[in-house]
Amino acid sequence: MATGKYVPTEREAAFQSTIESPKYERDIINGLTPFFKDKAPADIKAFYSAEELAALAALKGSPRDVEARMPVKMTRHFFELAQNSKPLQNIVKATPDETLNLAGSEDPGYQMDFAPVEGLLHKYEMGLLYAVSTCSAHCRFCYREELISQKEIERQDGTVAKKGLAKIKDVTDYIRQHNEIVAANGGRHPETGREKLREILLSGGDPMVLPNRKIGAWISALAEAGIESIRLGTKEMSFHPKRFDQAFLSMMDNFHETYPDVGFRLMIHFNHPDEFLVKGPDGAYLTNPNGSLKWHDDTRLAMEGVTARGWIHVENQAPIIKGVNDDPDALRVMQRALYRAGVGNHYFFCGRDIVAYRAFNVPIERAWQILNESQKGLSGVETHARLSITHYKGKTEVAAVTNEPIPGVPGTENGVLIFKILRNAMDAPDRGKVCMVARNPDAIWFDDYEDRVIFDEAGLYDYGRVDRKKKVEIQQPAEVAVGG
Ligand code: SF4
Repeated sequence: MATGKYVPTEREAAFQSTIESPKYERDIINGLTPFFKDKAPADIKAFYSAEELAALAALKGSPRDVEARMPVKMTRHFFELAQNSKPLQNIVKATPDETLNLAGSEDPGYQMDFAPVEGLLHKYEMGLLYAVSTCSAHCRFCYREELISQKEIERQDGTVAKKGLAKIKDVTDYIRQHNEIVAANGGRHPETGREKLREILLSGGDPMVLPNRKIGAWISALAEAGIESIRLGTKEMSFHPKRFDQAFLSMMDNFHETYPDVGFRLMIHFNHPDEFLVKGPDGAYLTNPNGSLKWHDDTRLAMEGVTARGWIHVENQAPIIKGVNDDPDALRVMQRALYRAGVGNHYFFCGRDIVAYRAFNVPIERAWQILNESQKGLSGVETHARLSITHYKGKTEVAAVTNEPIPGVPGTENGVLIFKILRNAMDAPDRGKVCMVARNPDAIWFDDYEDRVIFDEAGLYDYGRVDRKKKVEIQQPAEVAVGG
């Protein structure tokens, strides 16, 4: 990809000149060292007990060092929420158990196979950008732990390097080039068959840790490059909601005025209602006079700020994680409260096969049952969320889990699980294809069903890693092919 400096257009420069970029005081407690050395703020010290710290300290420098797997980080706002919430503590609190079993993939989903330029994953009509490699706080179950902890990843060509961040010039050059070839070829790329790259997800890490001027530079450059819709993935509503202040909202207003045709979606990440609802001394959620649930003031203001702008769509998506939100009641409350506030419930995810995934992932069938149970009693519009599991082939829905045998079909004595492909990173027509496997209540990843596939038109169990350069699929050894 061509190097050199990115030169904004006049329109871009005019928009960027209006951006106010204040510094945000998140009051971050970084790492375990402040706890080990008794230097954490007085009221935060007790977040870890002496026994917990001794157990974590004993792992320091060993292969089971929890901070080497995933850096530890927390904001004061989140600490205050977590003080009275075990599920929230489990989101950010390191435990020795998380490195008991380090099995898992260093590059879940072989993301780097889809990176035509550093920091950009191109998946059919959509691109995902690694815009930054940290967040205001760190979830222990994060599936970008290899980016956040800056691990060396083996690429498909055998080279080994840390995942790099996206650069505006490289990414916009690539988008323009791809889209010009597609346009000149009647709507499809002559080699890959892909359509226009029309949507970009700004991700990381959390792009909301970047200053406004950097976010503004990205979104205006993407708009100039012909992107029709931009998404920004963030957990900042939970970690530091004051980030969604007037300076940010004014920038977004100016962006919309400058580029009215560009759609914008905020993909937020709440795992549990304790992240935004107020609880009374008895642990019950407080209500407003009309019976609706009461939000924390900072989070309510942040949410009202974005939802008041009808052109900013807000959607929540979150994994279902052991000890955090494997709880139908919590998920029911969350879906209901979010929908009322104008937030769509997009996906719940089964945890991915990250390093140490067995410490965090809920069995697939259990996750489906939890979500299904949580949606009982909710209205149709509150239950748009589906349970997704990310196969190496693309996003796949866990569509159904049954309990009864299918007459005449061997292997279905305990019922079946049906996967359905929602989107394939390479090829649109795969959508809707299904795979049926016999039940395995302990299954946590696709390979746990490897010996019980009944029907697989989706090709989930006959999958080769994609070779971008040759534009063909090459066969992988069995244990990799079914890795998900
Ligand atoms: S906010 Fe998202 S990217 Fe950041 S640590 Fe949590 S899961 Fe990972």
